[in-house]
Amino acid sequence: MDLIRILLIEDDIVDQLAFKRHVEREKLPYRFDAVKSLAEAKRIIAAETLDVIVSDYNLGDGTAIDACEISKGVPLIIITGAGNEEIAIKALKSGAYDYIIKDPERNYLKVLPLTVQKAANSCRADRQMKMLLHAIMHISDSVYITNVDGTIRFANASFCRTYQYTSEEILGRPSSIIGDDHADGEYLHHRKDGAEFFVSLSKSIIRDSDGDVNAVVTVARDITEHKRAEEALRSSEEKYRKFFDEDLAGAFVCTPDGKLVSCNPSFARIFGFDSADEALSYNFIALFPKSRQFTEIKDLLRLNGKLEHHEIQLRRRDGSPVFVIQNIIGKMDASGRLIEIRGYIFDNTRHKLLEEQLRQAQKMESIGTLAGGIAHDFNNILGIILGHVHILYKGDPAMVQKANSIDSISRAVQRGAKLVKQILTFARRNEVVFESININALVEELKKMLAETFPKMIEFSLKLDPALPTTVADANQVHQALLNLCVNARDAMPNGGKLLMETELVRGIFLRERYPDAHEHLYACLRVQDTGEGMPPDVLNRMFEPFFTTKDIGRGTGLGLAVVYGVIKSHKGFVEVSSQIGQGTTFTMYFPIREAEKEDMKTMENDLAGESAAGGTILVVEDEPMLLELVQGLLEAQGYKVLSAVDGLEAVELYARHKDEIGLVLTDLGLPKLDGWEVFQRMKEINPKAKVIIASGYVDPALRQNLLNAGARDLVQKPYMPQEILTRVRQTIEEDAAVMN
Ligand code: ADP
Ligand code: MG
Repeated sequence: MDLIRILLIEDDIVDQLAFKRHVEREKLPYRFDAVKSLAEAKRIIAAETLDVIVSDYNLGDGTAIDACEISKGVPLIIITGAGNEEIAIKALKSGAYDYIIKDPERNYLKVLPLTVQKAANSCRADRQMKMLLHAIMHISDSVYITNVDGTIRFANASFCRTYQYTSEEILGRPSSIIGDDHADGEYLHHRKDGAEFFVSLSKSIIRDSDGDVNAVVTVARDITEHKRAEEALRSSEEKYRKFFDEDLAGAFVCTPDGKLVSCNPSFARIFGFDSADEALSYNFIALFPKSRQFTEIKDLLRLNGKLEHHEIQLRRRDGSPVFVIQNIIGKMDASGRLIEIRGYIFDNTRHKLLEEQLRQAQKMESIGTLAGGIAHDFNNILGIILGHVHILYKGDPAMVQKANSIDSISRAVQRGAKLVKQILTFARRNEVVFESININALVEELKKMLAETFPKMIEFSLKLDPALPTTVADANQVHQALLNLCVNARDAMPNGGKLLMETELVRGIFLRERYPDAHEHLYACLRVQDTGEGMPPDVLNRMFEPFFTTKDIGRGTGLGLAVVYGVIKSHKGFVEVSSQIGQGTTFTMYFPIREAEKEDMKTMENDLAGESAAGGTILVVEDEPMLLELVQGLLEAQGYKVLSAVDGLEAVELYARHKDEIGLVLTDLGLPKLDGWEVFQRMKEINPKAKVIIASGYVDPALRQNLLNAGARDLVQKPYMPQEILTRVRQTIEEDAAVMN
């Protein structure tokens, strides 16, 4: 320990020496100056840092009382002679630290060291306290000291600045007025003007020698700026996180052995995980159908460092395929070893599915072309059979006995004709009659009919959207498609179940992401839902193909859904299916909503007035010789004169030669050399008043309208019943006669 710095004021040199000797002999830890007068003492007090002053009472230039006044707070011990206790008390009152009586019986020097020690301790403590308070007073943190009851006893300069109180205003006030809480931590404090700011409080408890709490020192650090910065950081992190989280690309980091180190929620979403955390418990390799594929990617990374626009089929957690495009970067260490893989993954599945849809549509298209072609020929064959049966029946009395057979042939032909009609609907070679229809009404009507004919175990329900406007469509076709779906639903529920028909108005924008061709603003959604057996994937893949059926021979033709498909296509609509084995199937059709056009398509221009009925010569143009023969026979039997041609060129030549004679032309549309349309136009050139009836298995609605607009007298659907063709011919000729009259 440092030596105690003592100033001895003693005018008696003998006493001075005695003090000195005692210190030396006892080896007391003192360093002292001895002076004889107050004047000298004053000089030393001013110059030195003293711990204790020991002063004789009587001094040459005053007394120890005077010494008290110049002691500047250094403890002063007074030595007095015996019998001078009163003086001693007086000295204490004037600020002396203690006194010691010079007792002749006992050497006072022996008592002195203890008192000196105590005085020095107290002096040093005081000095430290002063330094401490000085420091506290001027440190930048706010410091305040409170009593146990919370009354503020001390507040430093920073406190006054920060809390905006003067020390007079705050001393003696309860610390609660600034929001003080008696614990460490972060708090919201308020200034005198009420403004709030964040402080971090750290408190120390001061106890007295008995261990009782005497005071609490609080250091309050203003952390408002810090808090603000923290808040700013947090919100910017939040923003960043949001960006990261909402990103459409899946981002990930993994180790070369596939361990996922980090990933974003998009990554989790793409692969069907509930959260990024869940994804992290998986190995990236598990998402590859073959682990070899991951190895290959690593090889490529080692080679090129990165992989751009890498298309690959991965699999989701549940094993279902997901088509992705990935950009991958490999991170290498100094020796070129792959240490980390980072990647961005884009889900390309929808695009792939659209591609698949397109392929499927193309397949259906080619099947349609094929089926349409076959049906067209088949149609003519049926026509021939039908016509000849008719002729035989009429002409040969012997045949009457064979009426049953003829009837059977007729019915078989009719069945064939129905089949052809279905195929043509699928192949979209059927005539579509667009008119304004109310789909809700159509559904209701169908439901009424089905409720009567379907087994009673099938429970119908309807959910019709009253907002559905009327739309331009072919009522027969929509009816047919809906009926086919209902029949399938019935077949799927042999033990009964629920059949729901629903309509809904849907905006095109919602379809466009699945069907880029959904250009129309509004669509009528028409849904048929059953609770039947559902379909396995292989049936789902092929169900729209014509003649695909899973039903027993005689039960299914496999044309139901093909027709639905054809109807949907010819209306430029969309159809989708969802099916669950054992749960049921839902077919959803979307028909574009189009407003009715101003002009009724069926209106025919009638500028035929003044035409001459040239009489009974009819030109029949048909490339199918047997059919030609048949029609010719029919007409001749009715007393008409018939000219015939087997191709377009021949027809035009004949017409040119006999134009005055020919009253009516009956021509097929599909002809060799010159097609029916061309034939018709050339005849019109030869004779603007040429009367032509066109027959065909299929007439494009636009073409039909064009033909009618151009003056074709009628269009007849093949195969035609002999009676039908005769009626048309007669009507056309009679019409003209009527106009004539
Ligand atoms: P068909 O009904 O004559 O078999 P479709 O073209 O109407 O022909 O249907 C093809 C196949 O699709 C059916 O044989 C059946 O396996 C399946 N299918 C169609 N609709 C359903 C349905 N609602 N529930 C279950 N399977 C269906
Ligand atoms: Mg069916």
